[in-house]
Amino acid sequence: MEKMAAWGGVPRQLLRRLRDIMAGAGAAQERLDRVVKIIAAEMVAEVCSAYVRRSGDILELCATEGLRPEAVHRTTLRVGEGLVGDIAEEARPLALADAQAHPNFAYRPETGEEIFHSLMGVPILREGRVLGVLVVQNRTMRHYTEEEIETLETIAMVLAELVASGELVTRATAGPGAPEPGMPLRLTGVRICAGMAMGRAVLHQPTVAIKRVVAEDPEIELARLRTAVAELHDTLDRMLGATDLAGAGEHRDVLEAYRMFAEDRGWLGRIREAIRSGLTAEAAVQKVQNDTRVRMNQIEDDYLRERLSDLEDLNNRLLMHLAGGNGAKPAADLPDDAILVAHNLGPAELLDYDRKKLRAVVLEEGSPTAHVSIVARALDIPVVGRVKDVFSRVDPMDPMIVDGDGAIVMLRPAEEARQTYAQGIRQRDERAASYAKLRGLPAESKDGVSVSLNINAGLLIDLSHLEDGNADGVGLYRTEIPFMVRSAFPDVRAQEDLYRQVLERAGDRPVTFRTLDVGGDKLLPYFTSGHEDNPAMGWRAIRIALDRPFMLRQQLRALVRAAEGRELRVMFPMIAEVAEFVAARRIMELELEHALVRGKAPSRVRLGAMLEVPALGYQLPALLREADFVSVGSNDLMQFLFASDRGSPRLADRYDVLSPPVLTFLGQLADRAAEAGKPLALCGEMAGRPLEAMALLGLGFRILSMAPPSIGPVKAMLRKLRIEPLAALVRALSRSSEHSVRETLRTYARDQEVPI
Ligand code: PEP
Ligand code: MG
Repeated sequence: MEKMAAWGGVPRQLLRRLRDIMAGAGAAQERLDRVVKIIAAEMVAEVCSAYVRRSGDILELCATEGLRPEAVHRTTLRVGEGLVGDIAEEARPLALADAQAHPNFAYRPETGEEIFHSLMGVPILREGRVLGVLVVQNRTMRHYTEEEIETLETIAMVLAELVASGELVTRATAGPGAPEPGMPLRLTGVRICAGMAMGRAVLHQPTVAIKRVVAEDPEIELARLRTAVAELHDTLDRMLGATDLAGAGEHRDVLEAYRMFAEDRGWLGRIREAIRSGLTAEAAVQKVQNDTRVRMNQIEDDYLRERLSDLEDLNNRLLMHLAGGNGAKPAADLPDDAILVAHNLGPAELLDYDRKKLRAVVLEEGSPTAHVSIVARALDIPVVGRVKDVFSRVDPMDPMIVDGDGAIVMLRPAEEARQTYAQGIRQRDERAASYAKLRGLPAESKDGVSVSLNINAGLLIDLSHLEDGNADGVGLYRTEIPFMVRSAFPDVRAQEDLYRQVLERAGDRPVTFRTLDVGGDKLLPYFTSGHEDNPAMGWRAIRIALDRPFMLRQQLRALVRAAEGRELRVMFPMIAEVAEFVAARRIMELELEHALVRGKAPSRVRLGAMLEVPALGYQLPALLREADFVSVGSNDLMQFLFASDRGSPRLADRYDVLSPPVLTFLGQLADRAAEAGKPLALCGEMAGRPLEAMALLGLGFRILSMAPPSIGPVKAMLRKLRIEPLAALVRALSRSSEHSVRETLRTYARDQEVPI
């Protein structure tokens, strides 16, 4: 104990000694036996054991000093079982003064460990994979210090080299109940980007193997770090200047936020500290990366997790620079059907891969709002996130299926599953080709009713879909997305630039901008609204805008300036009463007055309200006197009509949008709008589903706005539909007492040969 306290970290000579043993002569087993002996002595522990992870998620005791020798290669634990299994599963250290009192303690009589009370263990990590666990134990109830844990972690890094070399012989037989390697495995996660793909696994990791762990001279290592950091900054700057998405404002923001991390003092400080403890620069970077992952596993907050994942990306880049590469292309030999598997991925890292070869991405981390998700969506790459342990369960080039829609990942799928998915993917492709053929044809029903089909967008890159699907315009431009990826509130100038680009890209097609819809689940990193029990019904959207008019004013000013000389369409989210709309409009009027004085105003301004709160439906005639148009946000409207949280998986199938109350409510809106002669649109998810869209057309809706991939299917449905006879059916169904009228509508579509 005294010896440790006086230590102040890992003595460099110990690291060198360990390195020499490992690089020296003798069988791997002999070297490992010597290593655990030395560690036990140096750490003043009665026991030091090394467990190595075998295929099938088994941890095998491979060497010990202090436990019974006959337990070596006999004692095994599953990952997740016992304290050792826990350390491997969580990939984090554990230190307990009274280990046996811990609920996860798993007693193995053959080891004779009952006499040892305290235990400290750390994962043996390499390139993000847990290769094993290194444990020390003491007879007394010893309280291990933070410093001792750090020390053992550093030692484990050195040990990782030996374990990774594959020279250690583990017992060949698998433990009871353990899955064999190479077996098919079906994992689930959360849907981040839709789409389906089949391909071969590529493990995202720095392609540089760390050859030296122990440093000869820390000063030399610090100098190497300095050079590599300078190079890293240069590459990031170059990337900011020219990416595949050059010019796309939001992506620039993402990269800029990210560039800031590269200057993070805490991060670089930790790397320097690890170098001073005797590691080489690359080993130090890796150690900090391991720590980052451990922290990431413990953090619930999505925003913080995303920031930590940016750091992980930077760690990888730095490693590449240290290895002498420029960090530009991580995997030159990418197969042409690559499925990228990663703990997490930074947005810039994703852009490093050749888009043409990348079929899908699977992440252990990830969330739909993460930067990488926004970029992946813009590039139309299917992504499944939060797939637990996928990184350690897949081997490079393993065949994989990724089903982004169902949030399912299949590893080494059986032939049958492969065929089913291959067929599904073929059908998707065929359908996409048939929709492409509709591109030049009018969006008109069989009985000659024209319908305006628009896309929902939120990124500049989404606007390319306007041309692809030949949509009429952007029915909903969610302005909050660029705000969400920035680290600070964008000023008027930045907003104006962005909106101008949106309008330029849309050309003659109209764009309806929705003002900032934040609060609820859409949080801005730099704007906290405090905790609310019911955020969806809380201080969000127009409520924040009216209470903090400065933000709305700035946004409207930017919009007015960007639309100089052309039509500007703006709508306000979550309007609950006409008075709110009038108050918001007043702010717009002030901005327009200024613009007129400057002589730089839009040629025409159209102001609308989103109808997402049922109360507004009961004020529609009054609203239609004030507003130029109304757009129904059915996603929010449904949750408020049924008092049913739109984000709750338990309630997802409880109520149906194709039900009598919804049809009645929407039908009344359509009638009131027709009487007033004002445009009524619908821009929630239901507009993009052919059967739901069919019902909306039957109710009288003539303007729909949807995710870009839905334009084709909805147009195909529309061109085969006679609206006139459907109208009577839908009105009749709205008076029914059924839970849902979906099946009746489906049968109708089938009978009329309307593709839904
Ligand atoms: C809606 O609520 O239907 C809508 C279109 O807005 P969002 O999904 O962005 O809340
Ligand atoms: Mg909404």
